Amino acid sequence: MALIVHKYGGTSMGSTERIRNVAKRVAKWHRAGHQMVVVPSAMSGETNRLLGLAKELAPSKASPSYERELDMLASTGEQASSALLAIALQAEGLQSVSYAGWQVPIRTNNAYTKARIESIDDARVRADLDAGKVVIVTGFQGMDDAGNITTLGRGGSDTSAVAVAAAMKAQECLIYTDVDGVYTTDPRVVPEARRLKTVSFEEMLEMASLGSKVLQIRSVEFAGKYRVPLRVLSSFTPWDIDIREEAASGTLITFEEDEHMEQAIVSGIAFNRDEAKIALRGVPDKPGIAYQILGAVAQANVEVDMIIQNISKDGRTDFSFTVNRGDYAKTMDLLRASVIKGLGVEDVEGDTKICKVSIVGIGMRSHVGIASKMFRALSEEGINIQMISTSEIKTSVVIDEKYIELAVRALHKAFDLDQPTAA
Ligand code: ASP
Ligand code: MG
Repeated sequence: MALIVHKYGGTSMGSTERIRNVAKRVAKWHRAGHQMVVVPSAMSGETNRLLGLAKELAPSKASPSYERELDMLASTGEQASSALLAIALQAEGLQSVSYAGWQVPIRTNNAYTKARIESIDDARVRADLDAGKVVIVTGFQGMDDAGNITTLGRGGSDTSAVAVAAAMKAQECLIYTDVDGVYTTDPRVVPEARRLKTVSFEEMLEMASLGSKVLQIRSVEFAGKYRVPLRVLSSFTPWDIDIREEAASGTLITFEEDEHMEQAIVSGIAFNRDEAKIALRGVPDKPGIAYQILGAVAQANVEVDMIIQNISKDGRTDFSFTVNRGDYAKTMDLLRASVIKGLGVEDVEGDTKICKVSIVGIGMRSHVGIASKMFRALSEEGINIQMISTSEIKTSVVIDEKYIELAVRALHKAFDLDQPTAA
């Protein structure tokens, strides 16, 4: 008998009808002889609705006392969906019990609204499983050392599910969602995008951090660290499809060394519109300059992504970097107010109408010429590259936002991602 964790996203839990379907599906797995732990998200729209109410009363501000209440508030969404699912399972004739994060308990640090899980005590859940119950554990939430309710950041139920699976050494963690797996790119942009049968953890991690919204990035980190087998699959198949067929559907996120299959060199194209570019011109080229610019930015808690420093000419250089678009105004203000004058920089300019497009694939490690193929495909479309960054398994470029779809389509084609691979 295997222990399996199922996670259901907000859309899958979106109405009582859908919750009934989830219950029937879980009941099928239970009847097939598995011990089942289920981690649901709040019903779709509920977290936004709750946070919207708070905003109506007071605009968000980063004070711990305000954020404490946001977590107290937002955690109720998962509490409601979990109880409803337990009730639906009981209606299916199963024994079922739901627990809020603090009841398990799932312990986190006290960083409200973005807490990190520190430990999970599985004794209570295990006792229930051994008594034949289906156990529901709320996604997205935990409890800090002082007993305050915390939440894990938007999309955090994925991480809850993986953490529970890791703590309980589950055989597999199945993430049921409104798409049927991980695609070569967003099918809304490229209709020929294909579902990947398998993708490596490292690729998934790059894709999640580069803008693919299928899984919360922290859940992938967690799964990699604790080697939790993870599968992304659709909750919109009929609940009574053959369980073996269901268990083999979607995308399996694997460890590279587990794979014996031929791998595509590039597995996917990721993109995001969430960044903005800032360029400092005529920066005196002397030791410490990068530190003085980026140190000030880091101190304001702004994360920097790509960084480029040009070769200097006559003792001056240009220095550009990207930040999250939400941090753009704050960063520009900061640079103008202090850094620029202090350092004798000639000019600062910025552009929010950019996007980042990336190719991702572990095959890039062992093949040369992949980046140049990317650049050629973009140049054939007349797209100018503004910045480039690479890692072992990805190459990213910053381009004008208006070319995003053209670029993604061109790259998808250039790397034959619309063709079925040997895998
Ligand atoms: N309900 C939370 C959110 O909307 C967590 C989740 O769905 O994963 O972000
Ligand atoms: Mg989600």
